[in-house]
Amino acid sequence: MPREWDLIVVGGGPGGAAAAAVAAVAGLETLLLERGGTLRHKPCGGILPEITEELIEEVFGATLPPEVLAEQWELRLRYTPPSGEANGGRVRESRLLNVKRDHFDQWLRDRAALAGATVRQNARVSDIDVDGGFSVSYSQRGEERRATAARLVGADGVHSLVRRRLAPDAVATKMLVGQRLVQVVGELPADFHCVFAGVLSPFYAYSVPKGGLLKIGSGMTEEERTDLMPSLDRFSKWLEQNDVADLGKVVQQEGWAIPFGEQQLDAAGALLVGDAAGLCNPLSGEGIRLAIESGQLAAESIIEAGARSPVPDYRDGVAGIAQMVAALHRVVLTTDDDAREQFVAAELARP
Ligand SMILES: Cc1cc2nc3c(=O)[nH]c(=O)nc-3n(C[C@H](O)[C@H](O)[C@H](O)COP(=O)(O)OP(=O)(O)OC[C@H]3O[C@@H](n4cnc5c(N)ncnc54)[C@H](O)[C@@H]3O)c2cc1C
Repeated sequence: MPREWDLIVVGGGPGGAAAAAVAAVAGLETLLLERGGTLRHKPCGGILPEITEELIEEVFGATLPPEVLAEQWELRLRYTPPSGEANGGRVRESRLLNVKRDHFDQWLRDRAALAGATVRQNARVSDIDVDGGFSVSYSQRGEERRATAARLVGADGVHSLVRRRLAPDAVATKMLVGQRLVQVVGELPADFHCVFAGVLSPFYAYSVPKGGLLKIGSGMTEEERTDLMPSLDRFSKWLEQNDVADLGKVVQQEGWAIPFGEQQLDAAGALLVGDAAGLCNPLSGEGIRLAIESGQLAAESIIEAGARSPVPDYRDGVAGIAQMVAALHRVVLTTDDDAREQFVAAELARP
């Protein structure tokens, strides 16, 4: 049966934009479907490790423009262990990028369009049929539509419809991350501050300057969800008591999930990338870079495989990321305050 597209990508976050950009540059007729409108909001800290800059240039063919960067666009990483500020400090040579996530994602989608992909926003995918290829139903501005393709990439995030439809039995454990945007009286802290202490949060608590405000966050398992907002209250107090910041009014409060350990790299011949595949660092909550990398690998596997199934190539290509995520998940499950203390001491002692 003739297909309209070589590839349909569901979801236009970092993973989907990367897959679409790489596929389109190679000449594949690529359709990207994103349910959100322009500047769709995604709850996120918007922190990228330095090496992401190079990756973005490689995948999207351009460097990040100033309009996607937060006012304090370059940050250092500061760790505090459970024993407190006295034993914390800046990680030597650390350099992090601080982006405005909504603008960042839109720029990535625009780059995919410039590369030649057809990008449809306000296009919510509702169903997928597998019939030798893929038939995707979606609605766009009240109109029900359908598109067909030989290949499919599921880049639709932690609650992925592609994964739920094509691998209904796959387990998808999640971690919840709560965030508050808070006014600060006086000076904003200058670092990305990551605080480890069981009394504050079972995983991590962080603060990041964003515009003239401070974003503070905390992560929990789904079972601990009722403690998410109390954890942010405890962390707010901690920031004040430790003279990190004098907090004012809460401007915004939100929560969203990240994958926590369980992976599903493909389903019924479709390739899953980023959060949809479970590829997010459970130790730090970092997922943007892994989404871009896996999106790139998915597109490259599709290009390389031609008429063959791209699944084996993709599994091979993404194995390094998948193993790292699995290893960090095992670490997180066995981590207590003693282990966190040692982790911070080792990070700060690094030459
Ligand atoms: C509170 C919080 C803070 C975080 N902070 C950081 C951080 O500082 N640094 C970092 O690296 N990572 C961070 N992460 C993780 C990071 O946000 C994710 O790992 C990353 O966004 C994954 O990218 P993705 O492209 O796989 O999925 P997403 O960014 O979730 O993109 C999926 C896209 O698919 C679209 N979509 C979903 N369903 C459909 C559908 N049915 N039809 C069409 N489109 C659909 C969505 O609208 C979305 O645009 C944080 C996560 C949370 C929750």
